[in-house]
Amino acid sequence: HATKKTMADHLRKYETIFTLTPQRMRMIVEAFKDTLELGLEKPKQIVPMIPTFVFGWPTGDETGDFLAVDLGGTNLRVCLVTLQGKGKFEITQSKYRLTEEQKQEDGQKLFDFCAECLKTFIETNLGEGAVKDGEKLPLGFTRIDHGELIRWTKGFGALNTEGRDVAEMFRESLKKHDVPAELTALINDTTGTLIASAYVNPNTRIAVIFGTGCNAAYMERVGDIPKLKNLGVDDDASMAINCEWGAFDSFEHEHLPRTKYDQVIDETSNKPGEQAFEKLISGRYLGEILRLVICELIDEGVLFLGQNTYKIESPYVLDTAFLSLMESDPTEELLMIIGIFTHFFALETTLAERQFFRALAKLVGRRAARLSACGIAAIVSKMNYLEDGCAVGADGSLYNKYPGFADRVHEGLQDIFGDKGRNIVTYHAEDGSGVGSAIIASMTKIRK
Ligand code: ADP
Repeated sequence: HATKKTMADHLRKYETIFTLTPQRMRMIVEAFKDTLELGLEKPKQIVPMIPTFVFGWPTGDETGDFLAVDLGGTNLRVCLVTLQGKGKFEITQSKYRLTEEQKQEDGQKLFDFCAECLKTFIETNLGEGAVKDGEKLPLGFTRIDHGELIRWTKGFGALNTEGRDVAEMFRESLKKHDVPAELTALINDTTGTLIASAYVNPNTRIAVIFGTGCNAAYMERVGDIPKLKNLGVDDDASMAINCEWGAFDSFEHEHLPRTKYDQVIDETSNKPGEQAFEKLISGRYLGEILRLVICELIDEGVLFLGQNTYKIESPYVLDTAFLSLMESDPTEELLMIIGIFTHFFALETTLAERQFFRALAKLVGRRAARLSACGIAAIVSKMNYLEDGCAVGADGSLYNKYPGFADRVHEGLQDIFGDKGRNIVTYHAEDGSGVGSAIIASMTKIRK
């Protein structure tokens, strides 16, 4: 009769399945690089490498007043951005909450609401006469790629928008409500982050987002985007590419180290097979991965024997923010973790269990950061940025709030590249959907 396993024994098993060796990481980087190139070569690839038609870097000397509208998952944000040149800017903004109804409604109504908010915003924030009669302020609109909506992410339903020309719909609403703004740029937030970050920090070459979802953008040489061959643009010009890299390894599931918990998440998601990379990394899923491990141990009779576990057994109740809290608990007794389990799930824990949960959070968080490093490394390696080094603007709650996330990304880059990995440094990016959108609107204006 075998002796009872301790929590530390259980942990060892999870260490094995959630740990990524440097060698494994390098294999992922190679596959990732091939995938990026394939997306540039042909249309309709799994990682679509979307050409943004944002040409080249900002100079930092863009100036003027610009409006930016950001249609996010929960809010509509309207900004007035004054670019002052020399990498400086001022921003004024208002947020308007979107109702569930508005998100599901037909697209035109959603844009009518945007137009009304914009009008109120202009009247409140720009004094009488700030916009002269007949004049219009350039406006950048965020969340959309090249005029046509590829797919609404973050639970948007808006029926009439998918596939239809979003710019047309928004312009119609602006006209109807007599808003003195002219839509000059449609951007996606990752591209905005790239441009805003480069405006302030000219060493920036790549932007990455680690929030509810994950994505990256960078600047590519037009001649190296074979699928745009007949565009008539100079090969040496450069264009920002919105990678949509959350889709890496989708359907094939060949390259990423998926555990059975990752598979459950995928199979029970509303888009099975899709966004394979994102499902291992982004804030939406990390808490759920940990929760599934906990549920497994409940089923095995290891955890919470004799307690009522129904609360924690409901999908997605363990937010990734809890993992942040668990990892940053400063107390010896892990009082924060006691608090989380008693307060939210009505469960009592032993110290050994709490140490286990914290260690598990660390494994899941660390894996996410190291996989993120693989994606960054793929772009760095493809673009030959390693020797000279570069800055990577990073944003999203996972990057900004998860303790040690950035350090783990950097550590991952060094595991992949050796000491030279130190040349690649991430930093907290500039606001892409406000400032980035404004700069892109200004770049568009200048080109006309
Ligand atoms: P979005 O990507 O929707 O624009 P965020 O960048 O804030 O917004 O990302 C939200 C995601 O980050 C959610 O999935 C949430 O679980 C996660 N999150 C929120 N707070 C934290 C935190 N303190 N630590 C880690 N993850 C967090």
